[in-house]
Amino acid sequence: MEKVIIIRYSEIHLKGKNRGYFERVFGINLEKSLKGIRHEIHRGSGRYLIENFDEAQSELILQKLSKVFGVHSMSIALKVPTDMDSIFCAAKTVGPMNGTFKVETHRADKSFKLNSMEISAEIGGRLLSENHNLKVDVHSPQHTIQIDLREDGSTLVFNEFFKGAGGMPVGTAGKGLLLISGGIDSPVAGHMIAKRGMNIECVHFHSYPYTNLQARDKVIELAKVLSQYSCGTKLHIVSVTHIQEEIHKKCNGDYMVTILRRFMMRIAERLAIKTGAQCIITGESLGQVASQTIEGITTSNDVIGKLPVLRPLCGFDKDEIIERSRAMGAFEISIQPYEDCCTVFLPKHPVIRPTVQDVLNEEAKLDVESLIEEAFKSIETYNL
Ligand code: ATP
Ligand code: MG
Repeated sequence: MEKVIIIRYSEIHLKGKNRGYFERVFGINLEKSLKGIRHEIHRGSGRYLIENFDEAQSELILQKLSKVFGVHSMSIALKVPTDMDSIFCAAKTVGPMNGTFKVETHRADKSFKLNSMEISAEIGGRLLSENHNLKVDVHSPQHTIQIDLREDGSTLVFNEFFKGAGGMPVGTAGKGLLLISGGIDSPVAGHMIAKRGMNIECVHFHSYPYTNLQARDKVIELAKVLSQYSCGTKLHIVSVTHIQEEIHKKCNGDYMVTILRRFMMRIAERLAIKTGAQCIITGESLGQVASQTIEGITTSNDVIGKLPVLRPLCGFDKDEIIERSRAMGAFEISIQPYEDCCTVFLPKHPVIRPTVQDVLNEEAKLDVESLIEEAFKSIETYNL
């Protein structure tokens, strides 16, 4: 009896004519997630099977697969030849020692001499006669033994479904550039968009030496967490130190965050176009802080010329975001203390409802274009 892992996919099957494409990308992503772990992947109808792995690594494999978008559910199954004795033996192994149970059979192999009902009845009956601590309950059993007769003469027997990450295979919905800070929100925003099938590249702005190198390392760690879901990612790190110094020197300090945000958005859009990203993603949530009022978002969005800006967290409360941050495994990193570049030169009374005209008046005191060019020269890129 060989142990295998069944992977069922979620929305992919809805994609009609594109189904082949979605399945191919999904298969590549599964392979990537199991890189370095001995295994074989076989594609069957409507599912993938992982075979020939070290049984001691089953948990590790499930854990890796649980981060692959597109996976609906997974089961660890026993694979046996399609004959009643082998199926019974497998059912006994995966089945319970006591309590109530039922047997469910799915028969892709229609040539088999017994139909689904007959197989379930016979296996159930044999289990009962061997173990008097078992009882059949077809309505609300404590255990359900699943028997799946495949077309290739093999049968899969299992009793558990593990929930997958859902969503669409990463790589089927283009590429976006995520503005990633060291905070809680932006990694969650990237995770949500990756879930819909988008490749994510990241950009981070720092103000070294006003911010320390640990702040940068923390962002690298966060991008690494995200990369487990997005099949790898690139992280571009940009210095905005001189930009902040210039704003501090020449502009009304209350506009620091508003103007800096506009620089970030300008640089991000240009970088996105250069790297082939089709949108910008931020972790903004409406009204969460002063710069995220609708007026704040309007002034930062105002500098965007071509690309859409996705703000998947806009309607979320902080506690909902934290829940997602924990679930994706980013929270413990996000809450480490650090200095974001926005906290350097932070005004006591940041403008909460800036107008585009007021910001333009302040920005007129700066050489915006040369500051952007200078920031571009500082970009360091990491492959994660
Ligand atoms: P986060 O938890 O993601 O830091 P936040 O609640 O602290 O968000 P802000 O600091 O106002 O909110 O940032 C809003 C969004 O702007 C962030 O979610 C992120 O997308 C982007 N952002 C902020 N600071 C940076 C930075 N230093 N580098 C890159 N993007 C940033
Ligand atoms: Mg922040």
